[in-house]
Amino acid sequence: MGSVVRSMLVIAEPAPNTRTVLVPGFAGPVVKGAGSLDYRCGGCGATLLENVEFEQIRNIVVKCFGCGSFNETAPVNEMN
Ligand SMILES: [Zn+2]
Repeated sequence: MGSVVRSMLVIAEPAPNTRTVLVPGFAGPVVKGAGSLDYRCGGCGATLLENVEFEQIRNIVVKCFGCGSFNETAPVNEMN
């Protein structure tokens, strides 16, 4: 549904308590909103964030349920 689809960046597992890490226990988008961006896992392409606004998801890390990759959103300066 989102009009813009972006791939997330696969990163190493963050050290404990350094980042906000979402670890879903299910397949499918972890966050659904009313924005215009979809984010896909950089490892397997699964949609992890659906219809979000960038302000909702900046600085978070998402662990993909499907492939176990840790993904982060691109820095702000790559968004525009
Ligand atoms: Zn994945």
